[in-house]
Amino acid sequence: MDLENSVMICGFGVSGQAAARLAGYLGKHIVIVDENSTREMREQAAEIRKQYPDVRMDLFFSWTEEITLPRCETAVMSPGVRRGAALFLAAERMNKEVISELEFALRHITCPIAAITGTNGKTTTTELTTALLRASAIRAESAGNIGHALSDCAIEVCEQRVKYLVVEVSSFQIDTVSQFPKHPGVILNIASDHIDRHGGMDAYAETKFRIFSGSLSAPPETRIINSNLLGYRKRFLPAGLPVTTFSATDPDADFTLKNGIICFHGREILPFAESALKGLHNAENIMAALALVRALLGEDAIFATCVRDAIRSFLPDAHRMEVFLEKNGIRYINDSKATNPHAVNAAVATFAAGQNIILILGGLDKDMDFTELAPSLPHIRQAFLIGQCKEKIHDAIAGKVKCKMSSSLESAVKDACSMAKAGDCVMLSPATASMDMFRNYAERGSRFKEIVTGLLAGREA
Ligand code: ADP
Repeated sequence: MDLENSVMICGFGVSGQAAARLAGYLGKHIVIVDENSTREMREQAAEIRKQYPDVRMDLFFSWTEEITLPRCETAVMSPGVRRGAALFLAAERMNKEVISELEFALRHITCPIAAITGTNGKTTTTELTTALLRASAIRAESAGNIGHALSDCAIEVCEQRVKYLVVEVSSFQIDTVSQFPKHPGVILNIASDHIDRHGGMDAYAETKFRIFSGSLSAPPETRIINSNLLGYRKRFLPAGLPVTTFSATDPDADFTLKNGIICFHGREILPFAESALKGLHNAENIMAALALVRALLGEDAIFATCVRDAIRSFLPDAHRMEVFLEKNGIRYINDSKATNPHAVNAAVATFAAGQNIILILGGLDKDMDFTELAPSLPHIRQAFLIGQCKEKIHDAIAGKVKCKMSSSLESAVKDACSMAKAGDCVMLSPATASMDMFRNYAERGSRFKEIVTGLLAGREA
């Protein structure tokens, strides 16, 4: 059986449900397939049916290989369905094409998009770019990893409720899109992370550069990279293709930091110290956001008072170098979102004053190279190691810094707090994922704050 104007939704989790809503909005015949059948899935399907009563919807919950699926025009594959899984193979066999939710949504988005990728800083830069566009009286929305699924944003765009989208794109998501649209994009930085899934640094970097695949004939302001990635550009973009660069340390970049002032081609925008964001890496995140605003709205926009004011009033999210307590000259910092060495180095560089960092590290490894912590080591007075990969971290750094293996986050915090003195920072910046001990980085960060606050309150009592 061939179905006209049809979409097969393979996997009915968060992104599959969003794709189904968009398919319903577009009036397509929807075929939903999932190997499971939960109450939530059935309720979500009923909700879509209620919202789009004229749309035909066929459900294949509790699907097994023996059940033949109809032939659709397009299959939208959820990230949770592994390549090679029975459903993936059946979808490839039965449909004209298999695409990701991101690609499905991108095909139906008609408004300008700013795409943001990089090992670290995506969320911060995405939210900041959205804030700067909104300050410029543009109805902008953040989408992608944060905020809501891009398919839901596509509906808002079709309904004219949103005029610009700022999309955070992980390297896994880039891998699922055959061609990016001709919109401005930025690569913030490239450092070791998720190497286990990409098969090496070069493959990881090449994936990131694919964010420019649709904009090769667009003007240079649409291709924005950290100037420390110019070496990769030579390898992964056509020779001589111009790009826009930013850097807190390279004076030759288009966006630079000169005497503490963020500048574009030498023209001053604002003193970095006026932002609540700290650390040179955050100066670069601001420059990247400004570069996107320039690409979307033109050069004058980045010098507008409303944009400068929006940078001044922008506050970072929790769990990112969050100084949540300061007592007796000791700062307590929750940087649970630092899930790779590069992010830890950024945090340590921000707070280092001699050897004043007492650091809690460790958790779930993603095949990472912990020797990349080298720039941080001279500033660490003592590292407390926790979690599944504490031995691996120990092997990588113990020769250069004092380390102690701790049995739990509680015991690491207790030891860290009892050795801290005025001028020190007690920091959770784990360089690893959290899922060996916690549901996610937010739970890990909140638990860290609870333990510290409880301990200090106990000492006072
Ligand atoms: P992402 O969405 O890419 O994970 P976030 O903005 O959530 O990025 O920040 C993740 C972690 O990386 C935090 O610990 C933050 O302090 C750190 N970080 C943010 N921007 C940068 C950057 N440009 N370079 C290095 N580390 C960064």
